[in-house]
Amino acid sequence: MICEDGVHFPEHMTVAVIGAGPAGLGVARVLRDLAIPDVWVLERDKIGQSFRDWPAETKLLTPSFPGNVFGITDLNAVSYDSSPGWSLRTEHPNGPAYARYLEQAAEIYDLNVQCGVDVQSITPEDKGFTLHTNHGSFTADFVIWACGQFGAPSGKGLKGAELGRHYGTVDTWTEIEGDTAFVIGGYESGMDAALGLGANGKKVYVLDRGAPWLDGNKDPSASLSPYTQQRLSTFHAHLDIELIPDVDIEALQETESGVEIIARDGRSWVSEQPPILATGFGTGTRPVSEHFDYTDAGLPLLTQDDESTSQPGLFLVGPEVSHNGHLFCFIYKFRQRFAVVAHAIAGRMGVDTAPLEAYYDNNMFLDDLSCCEADKCLC
Ligand SMILES: Cc1cc2nc3c(=O)[nH]c(=O)nc-3n(C[C@H](O)[C@H](O)[C@H](O)COP(=O)(O)OP(=O)(O)OC[C@H]3O[C@@H](n4cnc5c(N)ncnc54)[C@H](O)[C@@H]3O)c2cc1C
Repeated sequence: MICEDGVHFPEHMTVAVIGAGPAGLGVARVLRDLAIPDVWVLERDKIGQSFRDWPAETKLLTPSFPGNVFGITDLNAVSYDSSPGWSLRTEHPNGPAYARYLEQAAEIYDLNVQCGVDVQSITPEDKGFTLHTNHGSFTADFVIWACGQFGAPSGKGLKGAELGRHYGTVDTWTEIEGDTAFVIGGYESGMDAALGLGANGKKVYVLDRGAPWLDGNKDPSASLSPYTQQRLSTFHAHLDIELIPDVDIEALQETESGVEIIARDGRSWVSEQPPILATGFGTGTRPVSEHFDYTDAGLPLLTQDDESTSQPGLFLVGPEVSHNGHLFCFIYKFRQRFAVVAHAIAGRMGVDTAPLEAYYDNNMFLDDLSCCEADKCLC
């Protein structure tokens, strides 16, 4: 049953998966393969909502290519037997197209997805959890939190951040006024903003405390993707984009002529329009944060099964999963942990885990975390 009109779900479910993005749908599919009953995906808006909310011009950085039949699953697929490259007939899908792929996946895998349900908090019980939602309370034996980070734009402590405009709130770069634009942050979303603004004829300044566009880290979670590098080199001659490295922005301040952008070293710029904050996203676990412990960097602490270290039965899937300093913040990375979570739940329920062999065979079951260390990036 997929997002039918109205809200219909049982008062008790075996597994409640919160969030119908790639992480929630992907893990639900594995649980379905294990024939675990009463698995429900609860989504506060629509399937793939974060992708629907991307700027209209934004496309996936990771290329889609249907290598699945040779055991090389499409990088953007949520399952080993699907390929956005094949179904959408495009290599770099935009947000709405990728949301369409997710909808198709939910339908083909016959997942129970209920839209319009906002999970506001959870209470651990003697057995399982009570979930408190905008449609009342109900219970689940296990909860898998899959809410991503796009709904948590963050100015990362920048003073006066409210005077800027976060990347995640932009519908299209054509709606930004003025001839000149400032972008704070020069990693993926900052470059995406600069390319989108530059294509609309603006002079764009990108300010970053380092120079991510020069970083040669082998892990694309820590350096610009080839797709972005390629776009930069292709368009750099035509677009008026100035990359300004080594400038640590401390504050935004209102002035008569616009917003002053103030760096720690005393330099400053005035932007007529609110500067674009490409400063990243915070944690998507806020509604359940009391049930997680966090690292100093603000990442949820997880067991080897991606379960909360402080609350048994509560699991995390998606881009906030991290182990040994390695972030699983791309779909092709975090999908390798769906089967790990499903294996843990199945084990506690006494369910046969033989169907997970297919996940091993297709590189979709990363249970050996020894390769995931910050200095061994290509795990
Ligand atoms: C501009 C941009 C480009 C990107 N490009 C790539 C790329 O090329 N390749 C790649 O692998 N990754 C890319 N990413 C990252 C990728 O989009 C995320 O890692 C991915 O969306 C995370 O999937 P998710 O299912 O965890 O979260 P999401 O896709 O954010 O889905 C979470 C869902 O949970 C719902 N939700 C949130 N809170 C609640 C609640 N309390 N109750 C109920 N539902 C809730 C939301 O509405 C949403 O539908 C990009 C991200 C951005 C911002």
